[in-house]
Amino acid sequence: MADSGAAVLVEETLQVFRDNFPGCEPTVGVAAPGRLQLSNFNNYLLILQALPMVTVVVGCQSSDGIISLLTTAKEADEPKRLEFPVPTESNPLSPGLPCWANYVKGVIQHYRAGPLPGFKAVMASNVPLGGGLSSSASLEVAMYTFLQQICPDNGDLVEKALACQKAEHTFASMPCGIMDQFISVMGKKDHALLIDCRSLEVTPVPLTDPGLVVLITNSNVRHTLTGSEYPTRRKQCMEAAKALKKETLRDVSMADLTAAESHLDAEVYRRARHVISEIKRTTDAAKALTSRDYREFGKLMVQSHNSLRDDYEVSCPELDELVAAAMDGEGVYGSRMTGGGFGGCTVTLVDAAAVENTIQRIKDNYSGTATFYITKPSRGAHVLKL
Ligand code: ADP
Ligand code: MG
Repeated sequence: MADSGAAVLVEETLQVFRDNFPGCEPTVGVAAPGRLQLSNFNNYLLILQALPMVTVVVGCQSSDGIISLLTTAKEADEPKRLEFPVPTESNPLSPGLPCWANYVKGVIQHYRAGPLPGFKAVMASNVPLGGGLSSSASLEVAMYTFLQQICPDNGDLVEKALACQKAEHTFASMPCGIMDQFISVMGKKDHALLIDCRSLEVTPVPLTDPGLVVLITNSNVRHTLTGSEYPTRRKQCMEAAKALKKETLRDVSMADLTAAESHLDAEVYRRARHVISEIKRTTDAAKALTSRDYREFGKLMVQSHNSLRDDYEVSCPELDELVAAAMDGEGVYGSRMTGGGFGGCTVTLVDAAAVENTIQRIKDNYSGTATFYITKPSRGAHVLKL
């Protein structure tokens, strides 16, 4: 059974399949969730939860050696439907137009078993596209899970997440970390997951308190980026680590950084200060969450937001407005931007009794139009019973 919101999505997707591929009956259905970052922006230590919002893929195998794909996503670029032969060694897939299909083609190309048969598949999502909740990873992981049903691989979960990440790197030109795909594969109902991106160690932290609500607020803005924002920050962090004779900032202490301040460019210093302080905050936040100290966890969320805003400079006025409005009332533990920044969503930890007031206050104070989602930590990718 799919989760309730997803159940409707599955029914709609099955209908779209039948309408568009007359004479074929979908035999395989899978779902993979988007994810929410509760803590941390960088690729070191992260606290995340899988969302109840999912990408669904339904379809069937075919014997004609052709792959037919269709997305229902309104935001996806045209055409929404395309067909191509199953790739071979001498005829591999390559990225192209439409952009949305690159995520799917990348997964097909990097799939870890074969040879794949032809297939027809419809994909649909209730993860907002481009909202920082990782619709892209949920699409990749859903497609991978679909392929596992028609051509099983060895079932290794880490390898699965890595193949999906590779798809995003090589076909969507997005040098993302591993966490989005990881959480979409491994999400655990009622648990946040602490992920160490270096060792790929995953520690589940129960998040089941009925008095606690995780509220996502979508700013519904996404600022256009030049493309240099993330590479520049990565370069700056590497530069700081190198100046301190370490491989990464993970091995640099705040005391070492402070001592080196005069040798570092001011902006490089602030970027490094964000990363080093955020690693400490994430470790502390994991402890706070484990001991159900939501007040401490919330305090760390706000500190994190301020550091992302002032030192890492990836927030934007809309996200700052949403966080300020959320914090300006009773029963709110903490609030911060989530995802890559420059728009997208915030996450707010709030007492269940205060959630309605909080939503109203954000609506009243936000200059734009926000969308709200109350979420529970949900399971990772799974097969649907059709
Ligand atoms: P995020 O992952 O935060 O939602 P991204 O920019 O990384 O934002 O990914 C969004 C892109 O992923 C969309 O522009 C689209 O190309 C693709 N995408 C995601 N979900 C779907 C879907 N269901 N159908 C088609 N394309 C999708
Ligand atoms: Mg993404």
